[in-house]
Amino acid sequence: MSVRLLDVNAQNHPLAPRLREAFDRVLASGMFIMGAEVTAFEEESARAVGARHAIAVSSGTDALLLALMAMDIGPGDEVLVPTFTFFATAGCVSRTGATPVFVDVCPVCFNIDANDARAKITSRTRAIIPVHLFGQCADMDAISALASEHHLRIIEDAAQSMGARYRGQSCGTIGQAGIFSFFPSKNLGGFGDAGMMVTNDDALAARARRLRNHGMEPKYHHHEIGGNFRIDALQAALLRVKLPHLPDYSAARAANAAHYRAELAKLPGVVSADPADCRCLADQETRLDAAGARLVLPVAYPHNDHIWNQFTLRVRGSGERDRLRTALDNAGIGCEVYYPLTLDQQPCFAGLPETARQPCPVARQLAGEVLSLPVYPELPADGRADVIAAIADFLDRGGN
Ligand SMILES: *Cc1c(COP(=O)(O)O)cnc(C)c1O
Repeated sequence: MSVRLLDVNAQNHPLAPRLREAFDRVLASGMFIMGAEVTAFEEESARAVGARHAIAVSSGTDALLLALMAMDIGPGDEVLVPTFTFFATAGCVSRTGATPVFVDVCPVCFNIDANDARAKITSRTRAIIPVHLFGQCADMDAISALASEHHLRIIEDAAQSMGARYRGQSCGTIGQAGIFSFFPSKNLGGFGDAGMMVTNDDALAARARRLRNHGMEPKYHHHEIGGNFRIDALQAALLRVKLPHLPDYSAARAANAAHYRAELAKLPGVVSADPADCRCLADQETRLDAAGARLVLPVAYPHNDHIWNQFTLRVRGSGERDRLRTALDNAGIGCEVYYPLTLDQQPCFAGLPETARQPCPVARQLAGEVLSLPVYPELPADGRADVIAAIADFLDRGGN
């Protein structure tokens, strides 16, 4: 049997009648730009995550760019970003004319290391973008403390983590602004590209709303230069159908993750990451070596409600990750490497100053070891069993 990494049809097709209703509503209204569907989607999303303001936009990338623009971040400024994330986190910083400064990550949760961030602060540092990678929140207490000490703005890149909580608080609402993505592979997957910025700051929200629409207010009066970052009314109407299901989608992902963690842990050479190893790769390596670990299972910190956008293993040993990937490919099991290169290694950032691209050893190691497995909500139980069997087979064959 083949198992896909993600099956959007399994999620969307059962909602077809409601999606068609939403489409018919928009078609009948003739209102395709902004309007009631967008406003309703924003209000419902704001309520769902507990934010004062939600500004729906054209993509998660545009939400990041908008948040940076609304904070006046630009040339001469530095912004701290984790080096182990999707490209957009840093790409948007560069697009404003500011300099992304790459920060290493935690070997347990893969999120930005606040100690390394502290070491990279200069007089030009204006903001920090913690990414809540794979569905788990970054260390927001440490980041908030650092930010208030150095007067940094916090933009949470929660593109992969809408609905995740940190000490009970929804991610995206902890810093001055947060962003979500509705790219089809995210937990609230849309029908094309879309995203959202959330904030509790009234002035920032007003500015972002204006910048989303060419800096225009009132009509045809432009006091500043924005862009077209609007979400389609149709997209908003369709996403309104799925938004109420988000908690169920995330719960189903969490159940799949719990099953993997329980079953894979029974296999020889499989060890769970230990939250105690946060921030010290050397200690972790010593412990993993002593345990004979070949695969390291992801773990949620007890204070985090993890929404498991990805279930990401570490495969230890030179070439082993690529061997497991090939074995899964051959068994018809979808898997993916998020991410094979750290951002400081990307050719497009080669022109950044040396100080922005200092070595980040934890992230480098992760880029060589990570492999994400199918964890989507509709993953059938027999598909899950096939994934586990294929990994067991790999471990059986590959003893070295
Ligand atoms: C998906 C993603 C984005 C960008 O979102 P798009 O909607 O694809 O533009 C930004 N940051 C992270 C961490 C992401 O995973």
